Amino acid sequence: MPGFELFGDSERKEVNDVLDNGVLMRYGFDGMRKGHWKAKELESELCKTFNSEYVQLVSSGTAAVTVALASAGVGAGDEVIMPTFTFVASFEAIMMLGAIPVLVDIDDTLTLDPKAVEAAITSKTKAIMVVQMCGSMGDMDALRAVCDSHDLIFIEDACQAIGGTYKGQPLGSIADIGCFSFDFVKTITCGEGGAVVTNNKDYYLNADHYSDHGHDHVGNDRGAETHPFLGYNFRISELNAAVGLAQVRRLPEFIQIQKKNYTIIREALSQIPEVEFRRVPEGGEESYAFLNFFLPNLGIARKVSEAFKANGIDACFHYYDNNWHYIRKWDHLKDLKSLFPISSEVREGLKYLKTKTYSQSDAYIARNLSCLIKLSWSEDEVRDRANAMANIVSEACSVISQD
Ligand SMILES: *Cc1c(COP(=O)(O)O)cnc(C)c1O
Repeated sequence: MPGFELFGDSERKEVNDVLDNGVLMRYGFDGMRKGHWKAKELESELCKTFNSEYVQLVSSGTAAVTVALASAGVGAGDEVIMPTFTFVASFEAIMMLGAIPVLVDIDDTLTLDPKAVEAAITSKTKAIMVVQMCGSMGDMDALRAVCDSHDLIFIEDACQAIGGTYKGQPLGSIADIGCFSFDFVKTITCGEGGAVVTNNKDYYLNADHYSDHGHDHVGNDRGAETHPFLGYNFRISELNAAVGLAQVRRLPEFIQIQKKNYTIIREALSQIPEVEFRRVPEGGEESYAFLNFFLPNLGIARKVSEAFKANGIDACFHYYDNNWHYIRKWDHLKDLKSLFPISSEVREGLKYLKTKTYSQSDAYIARNLSCLIKLSWSEDEVRDRANAMANIVSEACSVISQD
């Protein structure tokens, strides 16, 4: 991660195909486009990648989560259970539909704790959204069992985990409906873009229509199409899809590079007895987009994070002190800072955030560092980096343990 590091001739060729005929829109203009349908081609390529029946491309990963929720019928007053550790898009998408985000603790997988999920279910709960953070996954069998026993929709945000698998199935394709992002810093990028993945034909048709103003896409006269229900514009453009098409064909190569680089750094850190790695559920294989590990306490994690920065070890995140990914810094959500009035149902539904504490999540996130694995490093660079990281971590751990 991220795929832009290795942009090359294949991305240029696909974009030039689009510019040569000038059709930047994914629907219509059949004559002008000379057979180039980049979004449609990318959708069928992604069906193969995710071993899934249907894929709907959209304009971003945030749009993918919104469209997935809408397609599954989540709306006003429904509660959606989501983790405390995720990207802000999770609650943005839920609230966009007038639904209520119910934040629950994560466990040592850095994703939803199935026990915390079970405890948060109420008569209003409509869906459970697992977020496959930093290249790995939740305990999918346990979460599926909770969904089944309470008749809930299971949504999988795999925006950060393309290429990972659980029991042989690609992440993002396991729940009832999955979401991907191809934004500029993801493993596969097309600038801005996202995808909704499902084997449920109704959800797919809903996503297809909803993301294009409710158009039914029947026939080949756009103006004559009917709209069975209300929609919105979450379309991707052909230019973005063209880049994504070139990128997704390179996914196996990207994952292999990530795995090689990840393994070198992991082996170096494994020598330090105080370092613990995040738990990957049995049967799971990470995408190797990040290496996540726990240090003995918050003080050491902060110290290591600062020393990494001071020594040029970039792209290692201490999410406890980061504004985007962990509830601790989401004051705009807790204070409901909205440009427009929020329904009384959602305001009531979110009151718990003013007082609720998440000591279990805090305990994991405080001690966690999450290091991005880049695609463009040379082997020497990875080895130097691994040694430098191991030295910093081992020094920080030894100093504190003598205290
Ligand atoms: C990146 C990301 C998103 C949002 O994707 P955008 O394409 O940037 O809108 C949603 N969820 C997670 C977990 C992400 O990492």
